[in-house]
Amino acid sequence: DVFYRQLPKVELHAHLNGSVSSHTIEKLIDRKPHLNIEHNMTAIGKGQRRTLDECFQVFKVIHQLVDTEEDILMVATDVIREFAADSVKYLELRSTPREEKHTGLTKRRYIETVIRAIQLCKEEGLDIDVRFLVAIDRRNGPQVAMETVELAEEFLLSSNGLVVGLDLSGDPTVGDGKSLLPALERAKNCGLKLSLHLSEVPSQLEESDLLLNLPPDRIGHGTFLHPEVGGSQILVDKVLKNNIPLELCLTSNIKGQTVPCYSKHHFKYWYQLGHPSVICTDDKGVFSTDLSQEYQLAASTFGLSREAVWKLSQQAIDCIFAPEAVKQQLKQKWTDLQPQVF
Ligand code: 5GP
Repeated sequence: DVFYRQLPKVELHAHLNGSVSSHTIEKLIDRKPHLNIEHNMTAIGKGQRRTLDECFQVFKVIHQLVDTEEDILMVATDVIREFAADSVKYLELRSTPREEKHTGLTKRRYIETVIRAIQLCKEEGLDIDVRFLVAIDRRNGPQVAMETVELAEEFLLSSNGLVVGLDLSGDPTVGDGKSLLPALERAKNCGLKLSLHLSEVPSQLEESDLLLNLPPDRIGHGTFLHPEVGGSQILVDKVLKNNIPLELCLTSNIKGQTVPCYSKHHFKYWYQLGHPSVICTDDKGVFSTDLSQEYQLAASTFGLSREAVWKLSQQAIDCIFAPEAVKQQLKQKWTDLQPQVF
């Protein structure tokens, strides 16, 4: 539908390597035929579902395909262009810096390359403001987390405002959030904004409670925070009290089977409370979606009018990590683009 395609949008939850389109995957497979990787190993198609564990296997395959500086540069520029073509006006990309000994890739070079891609896209004149969140993979433990924070801190100061924050992600069934608290506290104290994957699976109540005390600046998923699905009112109250926006990814949660169907998605719970809820893609490549489609799915599932959809995309501006001046510019853009009648 052209309304959703043209709707100006803000994307706040996009993992770089999960966002790689099938077109870019084709180019990567051509570069590395010896790996014998096929298309169906890198994306979950229409109507398909996987366990969360299988989803994390998909990322491993993509990581094999993206292991040089050239790969990262191509993947990042392609992903940014695709979001821009989908009328995303502001994008926060997140990615876990990786070291690859066999190609000489270092974590520092990884971050530098993503930043270079952002600058190249700016020079191209694309109508999209892109920022970067450095990601911690929880699987790698507290020491790597602390090293990642130190690296992110350096780029916070040297990247001309392009690095704005830190993400905590990775397989939620592995590792322990409590042990990562010192790293996250340090990040917060040095001015990095925090977006944390929280309560993506049941059984993370204690961890979520601890992490909410930081508090984070945004929450990824938060699928099992509310009491209706085994969370608790205490957790919900902490989110409400600190007014922490939620990044909500419908298709990702359905295909990863943490939510049974679209109509049972927790978007409904938080949206009805009037709590800041931002529609995001998570991994547009892996889950075969885009942000227009996610807005359209939210609208059709929860009966949102076009006006309500417009408001939803507009309110996402208040949740970005870039400074106030950028928010004002974006709000002006939305005002300029707003249709006279819906
Ligand atoms: P990358 O950080 O390599 O650019 O993107 C892929 C990585 O993002 C995965 O290896 C994983 O750590 C993280 N990721 C992507 N999607 C999800 C998700 O739905 N949940 C969590 N917890 N992590 C994810």
